[in-house]
Amino acid sequence: MTRSDVLRLAREGMGALPLYSPDLPACAVDLSDNTNLWGAPPAALRAMREAPVAALSRYPTLYSEPLRSALLDYVGLATAPDVGVVTGCGSDDVLDSTMRAFGAVGDSIAFSAPTFSMIPVLARLNGLTPLAIPFTKGFNVDAERLVDTKAKVTYICAPNNPTATPVSRAAVEYVVANASGIVLIDEAYAEFAPEVFTDLVAQDERVVVARTFSKAFGLAGLRVGYGVGANGVVRLIERARGPYKVNTLAERTVLAALDPSDDGLRWVCEHAALAVSSRERLIGELSQMGFVALPSAANFIMVPTPRAAELFRALSSRGVLVRAFTAMPQDLPVLAESNGAALRISVGPWEMMTTLLDTLRAVSS
Ligand SMILES: *Cc1c(COP(=O)(O)O)cnc(C)c1O
Repeated sequence: MTRSDVLRLAREGMGALPLYSPDLPACAVDLSDNTNLWGAPPAALRAMREAPVAALSRYPTLYSEPLRSALLDYVGLATAPDVGVVTGCGSDDVLDSTMRAFGAVGDSIAFSAPTFSMIPVLARLNGLTPLAIPFTKGFNVDAERLVDTKAKVTYICAPNNPTATPVSRAAVEYVVANASGIVLIDEAYAEFAPEVFTDLVAQDERVVVARTFSKAFGLAGLRVGYGVGANGVVRLIERARGPYKVNTLAERTVLAALDPSDDGLRWVCEHAALAVSSRERLIGELSQMGFVALPSAANFIMVPTPRAAELFRALSSRGVLVRAFTAMPQDLPVLAESNGAALRISVGPWEMMTTLLDTLRAVSS
């Protein structure tokens, strides 16, 4: 068999699925992936260092049972009846498994676009048809159009990546009340947002909220995410996910990060608050330079500009890495004016923001 014969054995469409590869150069100041630029909670790093590594010759827990009550406590659902937790190798794993648990090949998943780039990829991988619905003016999700799709799964990213914009409670509640299937709310940036939607889990069995340790918790390298939902629902997602997805060290480290100590959970909350104040200051400084950011409820901002690609290159050649989006849908006036182009910039310690601003001044004049 020749090499090309072998490749023809692949599932239809596999070759066309993109790898997740923002093809980015290495830079001294990396503002490209919305991780915690202050680092990780010291208690978590200590738990990792002090782990009894002899235990590594055994399998981890099947489905992270020891994490479940700590996670329900953290999201404020400890006393909600019949609510459970599913964990995963990053929240990507939870999103992927939810699609697989509820969407049969040929079903569809509806979402507002532009959103998290993995969603259409995971959808296709699971045989689901992605249905991209434009945002309304003001970047709210178009609840009625999402509902009208009658999709098996409706995905809402709140706040939304890459725009950083919040989603209104009225829109989310309308979708939850009227959707035909599961409503998957991705709260990867919950810790930075003025409003979260975990309470809806206790009110409607079709709601699943996905969260992650990759952003505010500063533990992207550990790969831990989770979903909360009705017990029956999360146990189904777990079946689609498979056993042993969260490793022994990750489970131990995440438990320490959730501990309400000064260098555990309190560290996380304090640094999320620092990110929010850094963000507001950055938005202010940028507006004085003529760059108007979209309203942000996350630890990153989106700045529409037709010069996104050129500014990305100029910044990265000077050691500052951001993300450039160049082909976003142009239904909204602000993105039409920028030809669908924008920079996405992660927010971190003010010294890093100063480097960004100084470099941007140098390259954009
Ligand atoms: C970063 C991010 C995730 C998290 O992915 P992990 O697999 O948990 O690292 C999920 N959703 C959105 C919208 C994100 O931006």
